[in-house]
Amino acid sequence: MFISSKKSISLIFFLVTVCHINADNKAKPNIVAKRDTANIYKEMFNDSSDDLMENHPADDIYNNIWTCDRLNPYKIPVDSLPDTVRIDVKNFHLPVPGIITSDFGPRKYRYHYGTDLRLAVGDSVHVAFDGKVRIIDYEARGYGHYIVVRHNNGLETVYAHLSKVLVYLNQDVKGGDVIALGGNTGRSTGPHLHFETRYLGNAVNPANIINFNVGRVHNDMYEMTKRKSFYYQREVQALKAAKYYRVRKGDTLSQIAMRNGTSVKNLCRLNNIKSNKKLQLDQKIRIW
Ligand SMILES: [Zn+2]
Repeated sequence: MFISSKKSISLIFFLVTVCHINADNKAKPNIVAKRDTANIYKEMFNDSSDDLMENHPADDIYNNIWTCDRLNPYKIPVDSLPDTVRIDVKNFHLPVPGIITSDFGPRKYRYHYGTDLRLAVGDSVHVAFDGKVRIIDYEARGYGHYIVVRHNNGLETVYAHLSKVLVYLNQDVKGGDVIALGGNTGRSTGPHLHFETRYLGNAVNPANIINFNVGRVHNDMYEMTKRKSFYYQREVQALKAAKYYRVRKGDTLSQIAMRNGTSVKNLCRLNNIKSNKKLQLDQKIRIW
């Protein structure tokens, strides 16, 4: 059948209008239904999060826990982790090109759960992998301004002592994106980035995964094992159990050793000092 061009334009216009109305009718109830369901879940579980129905990176590993108020809300002891976990780290981007100024490991009275990288205040800080921003917070006596990102590969990374945060909570980020500017905020004695890698809340030495000298990962797949990745837990326990003695006037190392049932050799090892070290008044000496 022949249809005049005027008629065919009218027909197309009619069809487009009908399709548009149908699309509108289809789309609207879906959005409303999703919101209603989310609200019902929120009421049922008394959940205050805004996006209960939304997927977050590595939800299966993190048992759908997504909260912006604690670094480690998971409380999974290392003993409960699988013996071996393989993590795809090939899409890695170096957060800052700086050299390491302090390694992961025991500090004098506490444990240092990250790698410190030198930078200048205002330098760009890049996110290590694809993921989503889970925490943006400030700790005056700790991290200063900091960001925690959950990655699709199951790791979480921490960026601390920042001068400026350039992302917002729950923002999706691509590996290499600039998420902040470096700084010297919080407990920090000079501009640097404190960078952590964590799995289910448990810190893993970033240098196990990344060769910071060349700015690349050691291997595309990081094999995380209890024995190799969490060896440091014993050191953490020893630090927690450590006892200290405050030096009084006239004290000598041998007196302190004798009074506390230990040896000068032990005191030197625990405090990383020489036996002829001159003691300062009020100095804290670790005795075991
Ligand atoms: Zn640090």
